[in-house]
Formats: sequence, C-alpha cells, structure tokens
Amino acid sequence: MTVRDLPPVGELTEQQQRGWSCVWCRTALTVGEDMDLGEKRARPEGGAAYSWFPRACSDAAACAARETGKMP
Ligand SMILES: [Zn+2]
Repeated sequence: MTVRDLPPVGELTEQQQRGWSCVWCRTALTVGEDMDLGEKRARPEGGAAYSWFPRACSDAAACAARETGKMP
C-alpha cells in the first residue's frame, strides 16, 4: 500500500484532526472501517507543537471517488 501525503493539518477540520472523519474525503468514520495513519506532530507557526491523529477510510478506492467526485 502506498501512503499518500497528508493534507496540511491547518486545512483540516477538528473532526479530521481527531480522527473522527476521513483525512481526505471527510466522511465520518466507523470503527473497523477505517485506517489508522499514526500519530503526527504539527508545529504551527508561532505556536506550540501538538499531536494529531489522522485516520482514513479503509476502502481507498471509494475514498478517492468521494474525494474527487464532489457528489452532485
Ligand atoms: Zn475517505
């Protein structure tokens, strides 16, 4: 599996930073149907460093379709 680069943490919602929503397609995640991307460290400019916990859909193809599909 190839690991995609994560979006900049500053552009993500709180839900995405906490691992409640997919880091790419923003879908609310269900335990068992998601993928733990591991703890990440962020250091905002002029701020204190902190940890965030990205998670993503386990179905990468469906995730990509949701991300790029922009449902009508
Ligand atoms: Zn997704």
